Amino acid sequence: MKHFFENDERRVFRETIKTFIETEIRPFAHEWDEAGEVPRSIYEKLGQLGVFGLGIEEEYGGLGFDDPFMRVIFSEEMARCGYGGVSAATCVRSITLEPLQRLAAPEIRDRVLKDIVLGKKDSSLAITEPGGGSDVARLKTTAKRDGNHFVLNGSKTFITGGMDSDYFVVGARTGGPGLTGISLFFVEKDAPGFSRTPLGKKMGWWASNQATLYFDDCRVPATNLMGQEDFGFLAIVNNFNNERLGMAAQCVGMMKAALGDSIAWAQERETFGKPLIKHQVIRHKIANMSAKIDMIESYIAMICWNIEQGETPVAELSKLKFSSTKALEYVASEAMQILGGAGYLRGCRIECIYREVKVMAIGGGSEEVMRDLAVNQMGL
Ligand SMILES: Cc1cc2nc3c(=O)[nH]c(=O)nc-3n(C[C@H](O)[C@H](O)[C@H](O)COP(=O)(O)OP(=O)(O)OC[C@H]3O[C@@H](n4cnc5c(N)ncnc54)[C@H](O)[C@@H]3O)c2cc1C
Repeated sequence: MKHFFENDERRVFRETIKTFIETEIRPFAHEWDEAGEVPRSIYEKLGQLGVFGLGIEEEYGGLGFDDPFMRVIFSEEMARCGYGGVSAATCVRSITLEPLQRLAAPEIRDRVLKDIVLGKKDSSLAITEPGGGSDVARLKTTAKRDGNHFVLNGSKTFITGGMDSDYFVVGARTGGPGLTGISLFFVEKDAPGFSRTPLGKKMGWWASNQATLYFDDCRVPATNLMGQEDFGFLAIVNNFNNERLGMAAQCVGMMKAALGDSIAWAQERETFGKPLIKHQVIRHKIANMSAKIDMIESYIAMICWNIEQGETPVAELSKLKFSSTKALEYVASEAMQILGGAGYLRGCRIECIYREVKVMAIGGGSEEVMRDLAVNQMGL
């Protein structure tokens, strides 16, 4: 089906990214996943292609414009490699870029932003705590002013890229209880009182690391406060919309990969005297998988168009997030079923996609939390 919103610029962008991923990422993704890391040179090459520069000014190495469709294209094409950890390790920096550009002090912005955009340095967003992730309003890490400094105490966990990142955007409580009262801080890896340890083995996202971060009387200059004191979290809620759009697009990329591999297998494999693809049950599975992908893709396009018009469709983004992870859960399961035992083997792309389903359904706003947000946004 033709994409109504496709234009020359977006077509070229997709072709460039696709070619890069097919040649420089896909052949090695399984190896990196098993090794638990992506070579740094990949971040730098992607940085050169401009994929982290959407919404970032040219003086900071960005493209000087934003385009929700291009964000989607990048996330989708990255995810097609099938190894979610490769996407996570690569894309993690994106979520800190907009807050750093908009809220960090000029000295910090000028010093660090360009290197992150160009893939030379890594950055992570640290909100989740050992005590909980969904209920951000109960966040416990504190930041107390002490002259020209803030002193942070507490810990964060599940922080993607946390073992490699040079820079962190950290949520900490400066005021009273609730979402108001949370401020954002720019913290560098060598700040006094900062330390980190890696999380143990995980179900998926092997190529990316997650860390627990510790702040023990961690002193940062008062100028590291990002934006208005007590209103830090509220200032970045819109940032989560981009993350959710990107995650939905990643679901589409993984679903397309799973469908493509299923069709190829079903055409080649014979059972009971004919190719799998000629059995009606398998044909119906493929029809169902394909229809789910079409629906999520169309929903994404409608949401992107609204964003392009200046809207912030929070309810739709929330509905998109849980619908896309539910669709991925279905498609990954059906794809694995079509491949039979072959799909269960490590190194098969579908085996990895199947393992990546749950992190998509939990991270970046869980399915339950997204449903709540959607209904609240509907005014109910
Ligand atoms: C691999 C991975 C990478 C991550 N990377 C980052 C990162 O870079 N930065 C970061 O800050 N965080 C990160 N996270 C944390 C992630 O955002 C949280 O896991 C997520 O927000 C859920 O929080 P939780 O795990 O503490 O679950 P909880 O909040 O304890 O919730 C547990 C379960 O209960 C459900 N639940 C919670 N409240 C309700 C309710 N009111 N009604 C019904 N059900 C409810 C949730 O949906 C969930 O299914 C990452 C997580 C993972 C697994």
